[in-house]
Amino acid sequence: MPLPDNLKEHLEKSYNIDVQSESSVSGGSINSAYCISTSLGDLFLKYNSNVPQNFFERESDGLKMLRSANTNLRIPEVIAADGPDNNRPGFLVMEYIESGRSGDSEQFGAELAKLHQTEESEFGLEDDNYIGSLPQSNRKHSAWESFFSEERIKPQLKMAIDSCKMDHSAQKAWGRLSSKLDRLLPKVEPSLIHGDLWSGNYLFDTNGRAVLIDPAVYYGHPEMDLAFSKMFGGFSSEFYRGYESVSSLENGFEERVPIYNLYPLLVHVNLFGGHYVSQAKRVLDRFS
Ligand code: ADP
Repeated sequence: MPLPDNLKEHLEKSYNIDVQSESSVSGGSINSAYCISTSLGDLFLKYNSNVPQNFFERESDGLKMLRSANTNLRIPEVIAADGPDNNRPGFLVMEYIESGRSGDSEQFGAELAKLHQTEESEFGLEDDNYIGSLPQSNRKHSAWESFFSEERIKPQLKMAIDSCKMDHSAQKAWGRLSSKLDRLLPKVEPSLIHGDLWSGNYLFDTNGRAVLIDPAVYYGHPEMDLAFSKMFGGFSSEFYRGYESVSSLENGFEERVPIYNLYPLLVHVNLFGGHYVSQAKRVLDRFS
């Protein structure tokens, strides 16, 4: 499908981005994505008409935060972002990064650990953002357990119950589990995390350097990113070795993974339903 004319015109008029040719890019789950040739060189463009006004702005903010952290991870530079307007879709334009054949997973892990060393005094973020297409609340908390429960699990559970995908027994099970979090999860400083770290949200560039895309950043528990990375696989043992060469994990991490992953699991319940519902129930029953 060709790019909408009104988007092309807007990019040219407001940002001097002249689209000379375009080719679609697959792999995304929400937006239409293109590599566009312009007089500035190749750029990556994604767009969507059915997103909230600040959707791409928040993604742009997240990419900028990751870019300004002190790591050697590659984060695409944002060129332009805006919300939908007047029948014109919302869009995000950034540096186009060509994928390489392979990458240095160990270095990737080590650099992620360095990202997690970017700390703040509270869990959360100034602004709310999005996880996939769903809103993500970042109201600040001083304790991880309360942030995780109030801003991550409860809003997703409410959404699942309101849409009849789950029932109130799930809420009760979470009530029992959440009262144990204090003992189950290790204490950490609030750390900058990617927030949506599955294998579709990283790539290696042609120099084998890891590139992070599509973040849902906030200051959280670093084990959230590591647990997320295990949800669908796609991260090698070298990656975890590299991570631990910089930051060691506390004992029992593998047992904590399903608790952290209740969050992306509930996001999947709300986005797709299906077998994710029974999976989420099993985790709630096992730990509560
Ligand atoms: P969505 O927001 O729809 O999930 P993504 O941000 O995941 O879209 O991007 C879709 C695909 O485009 C990714 O899987 C990736 O392969 C590719 N991609 C994303 N950002 C870039 C970029 N800056 N340069 C090149 N390819 C990119």
